[in-house]
Amino acid sequence: MTGWSGPPPLGVVVDLDDTLYPQAEYLASAAAAVGEAAAAAGLDGGPVHAALRRELAAGSDAGGTIDRALLAAGVPAADLPGHLPALVAAFTAHTPPHLTPYPGVRDALAALAAVAPLACLTDGNPVIQAAKLTATGLLPLLPVVVVTDALGGRGVRKPHPAGIGAVASALGVPADRLLVIGDRPGKDVAVAAAVGARAIRVRQGEYAAAPDEPAAWAVTASFPAAAERALAVLRPVGAVAR
Ligand SMILES: [Mg+2]
Repeated sequence: MTGWSGPPPLGVVVDLDDTLYPQAEYLASAAAAVGEAAAAAGLDGGPVHAALRRELAAGSDAGGTIDRALLAAGVPAADLPGHLPALVAAFTAHTPPHLTPYPGVRDALAALAAVAPLACLTDGNPVIQAAKLTATGLLPLLPVVVVTDALGGRGVRKPHPAGIGAVASALGVPADRLLVIGDRPGKDVAVAAAVGARAIRVRQGEYAAAPDEPAAWAVTASFPAAAERALAVLRPVGAVAR
């Protein structure tokens, strides 16, 4: 029993941050880079680094994170315009040397890729998202990567359907036959619903405690567990046709 009704999915779409690797590892690395840039600019780098880590821990989605961290570190408001460009640049240009995927992710992606077209759909600055993917070492397993911001800026981030539409085109399958795996109900589950597709929520990372709204087809505690559920419907026992 897979709990799936209707024709099986024809492709799998995976989110990146907090789905394939813990985003907190990237944020810690980027915060350290900004702290070093602050020190190079004559600020007290330690407090800037610490304040930025607190701000990022409070919510990585919010804008103005570096502004608030500088104020919290005691930098006068009047000095912010002089410091922000270099520090924002340090954050954006930061290339993490290595990001550790969650346990079992590499094997799970390989298993999925063996039975279905596979793509990554992620929101964020395209340069940063590319650097993260490279640092995870998972890029060779993801032949199609769509970064929503590259399609039309923040306005087309998930759950806007533009990104998943681009994935469907790249994979050559109808969008409603995709199966999405991701950590955020409001983004990953919602973007699937926006095109009539289904999603598996992986309950981990910054949004692990968020309510199941909208509801996913399945909820799992890890990416490998989600891949198992996906594999069961991608190649159902006794299936005669797709
Ligand atoms: Mg995510």
